[in-house]
Amino acid sequence: MSESGNVKLRILGSGREVGRAAIAVEHKGRIVLMDYGVNFDENEMPLYPLHVRPKDLELVVLTHSHLDHIGAAPALFLSTRPRLVGTPLTLDVSRYLLYDMIKLNGPNLIFDEKSVNDMLSSAEALGYEQSIEAGDFEVTLMHSGHIPGSASALVDVGGHRILYTSDMNTIDVKLTSGHKLAGTKVDTVVIESTYSNMIHPPRERMEKEFYESVMDVVSKGGTVLVPAFSVARGQEIMCLLEEKGFGYPTWIDGMIRSITEVYLAHGSFLRDSRLLAKAYNEQNVVKGWGDRRRALKEPGVIIASAGMLKGGPSLYYYGKLASNERAGVFLVSYQAPNTPGRQALEEGIFVNETRKVPVRARLQLFDFSSHADWKGVIETIRGLSGVQRVVLVHGEPDGQALLAERIRRELPNLEVLVPNNGDEIVLD
Ligand SMILES: [Zn+2]
Ligand SMILES: [Zn+2]
Repeated sequence: MSESGNVKLRILGSGREVGRAAIAVEHKGRIVLMDYGVNFDENEMPLYPLHVRPKDLELVVLTHSHLDHIGAAPALFLSTRPRLVGTPLTLDVSRYLLYDMIKLNGPNLIFDEKSVNDMLSSAEALGYEQSIEAGDFEVTLMHSGHIPGSASALVDVGGHRILYTSDMNTIDVKLTSGHKLAGTKVDTVVIESTYSNMIHPPRERMEKEFYESVMDVVSKGGTVLVPAFSVARGQEIMCLLEEKGFGYPTWIDGMIRSITEVYLAHGSFLRDSRLLAKAYNEQNVVKGWGDRRRALKEPGVIIASAGMLKGGPSLYYYGKLASNERAGVFLVSYQAPNTPGRQALEEGIFVNETRKVPVRARLQLFDFSSHADWKGVIETIRGLSGVQRVVLVHGEPDGQALLAERIRRELPNLEVLVPNNGDEIVLD
């Protein structure tokens, strides 16, 4: 460990916004960059984090494979090749998501497949509780409980210990157990605050309600569409149905198949890889339009991307099932404003280029969040040892202000910051 002082945090993204994560730790002009993600605006144009000079990078850490954490990282590999680490599962899944992003957004991006390959071919895989030295920095990955393979990063430099939780969850779900951050000694924690003003219902109750609703629809001869992201949420639903002994046909459509195979190849990162293997075995994999029509003909469940019904195969099934009162459309993730999913929930209508019809299918939203709620955030901070400073990132400003107040009330000795993008925090 080198001498103290002169350590700075720079918020390059996820300051008072959800997503576009990018946090730099700077010491003597060298930088460890944790995540470099994108958000998308209403026109699907990528929004990049603030600039960082790639040649100043000592190390890049990718905490998990969601695009809001990795989607800008290949741009760092256009002119140089900084060192990069992630868990082996994160690195493998990232390739699929970045290729998919290029397929959908290629002309609007500043990098292409070559940068993705340059980035991943030189990447170093690191397990949980393993450390890597880079210049004056020592970086350790820790189990963050968000999705399989996801990590928090602990940076030790200049006499400071900085924990960046990245996206995290405190509870056990089918695919992964809650984070293992308790007891970690840190002075500064940079913590996500996605659900800064919300409490999730108990997971077990949600799972029970979901399963009963599915059974209700299929036992009356209906088909249930579960629009779900192909990374983690789709597999979570597969495992849930398997564990409950669901006896009807289930179909998976989209990238979920490839991602499931990557998950199974890294079974040690799963809470119960046998459950996922059994669940995957039960799936009918959609291989073309004939299968899509077949899937719609019988009572059962179709798990298809995208989760907010914004394009992808789920939009096709939704178009077929929306006016069918025997069918179910069960949303299992957050529905952003201006998505067909949100429109269905708020206005009860299905709209596409040719028609606008009321949704007659049973429509329900289930909270299967993979992020801690505000109680989980406070519990996480409380569980750490030696914390002096809390930096809230990856959240909506209104909720963050409330959460900051709550933390100050419950843990009065802590300094609580809610930085903007571009802000610098000097640690001393
Ligand atoms: Zn995120
Ligand atoms: Zn995430």
